[in-house]
Amino acid sequence: MENITLRNGLEMPLEGFGVFQVPDPEVCKQAVYDAIKVGNRLIDTAAVYMNEEAVGNAVKAAIADGLVKREDLFIVTKLWVQDYGYEAAKAAIETSLEKLQMDYVDGYLLHQPYGDVYGAWKAVEEAYKAGKLKSIGVANFSIGKLTEFCELVDEKPMINQIELHPFFAQYDAIEHMKEYGCVPMAWGPLAEGKHGIFTHPVLTEIGQKYGKTAAQIALKWNAQRGVVIIPKSVHMERMQQNIDIWDFTLTDEDMKKVDALDLGHSEIIDHNNPGVVKFILGSKIHD
Ligand code: NAP
Repeated sequence: MENITLRNGLEMPLEGFGVFQVPDPEVCKQAVYDAIKVGNRLIDTAAVYMNEEAVGNAVKAAIADGLVKREDLFIVTKLWVQDYGYEAAKAAIETSLEKLQMDYVDGYLLHQPYGDVYGAWKAVEEAYKAGKLKSIGVANFSIGKLTEFCELVDEKPMINQIELHPFFAQYDAIEHMKEYGCVPMAWGPLAEGKHGIFTHPVLTEIGQKYGKTAAQIALKWNAQRGVVIIPKSVHMERMQQNIDIWDFTLTDEDMKKVDALDLGHSEIIDHNNPGVVKFILGSKIHD
């Protein structure tokens, strides 16, 4: 496992574990516990996933069982759009910490680029200065939005979590993030299973050379280009597989073969689609 250093000097693992679409508290707790057991140290949740409490319970259990110490872990959560604006964000940060049962989180992201991101960011900057958020960033910010944001805020985002996998490689977005010292983090690093990724002929053929699966090749390709990956699975054998990518290096030729799979667009979500924007702005996670 390798780390990447954020702009403020904080070390972040290049691979972690995501818990989107794991709403059942017991399933989520077990998955996070197992993920830590197989070696993951970064856990990615969000207020909107409705499982921060289960993540907190899993972390508590893992610490109590001596698997890890809190300082070994890098816990990321995210602010939902309903809680954008200064006052609402301030309260939502406290709610997330309470649910996670933690004094601080290691990464805190604005989940979407819509709504009062500037008011929300003021609360995020304050909590960062107070030591409650060890690093701060954004998610789903396009090149244009990230530019505008970085030009206008005091503390620039250290992370931008966007969709990144072999079929949506977003080379230009990654290059652009570097200009602002912002680390790219991949959501959907396994393309959420789309486009036949697990049996894809090119990924499978490359994998045969290294004794690895198509999934492992997809994950390693992202990590090898400096992108933080957070694959999700509720199956322990898949978690083990997904983290077993640190004993080989793809050749330049194989990296280029994966590069060539890029479709140039998402097959999961289009953040420029008006229906998507309206749906996100309207989604509530509490009264
Ligand atoms: P993903 O990790 O690309 O794919 C997860 C899917 O792949 C699940 O159906 C999982 O099934 C399956 N899977 C995992 N490993 C496998 C393997 N080795 N072989 C076969 N199937 C495998 O998708 P994701 O969960 O959407 O993305 C990862 C994380 O990114 C999320 O959990 C979340 O933390 C974050 N995320 C953030 C945003 C955002 O807007 N910021 C959006 C989406 C996701 P099983 O669970 O049944 O094994």
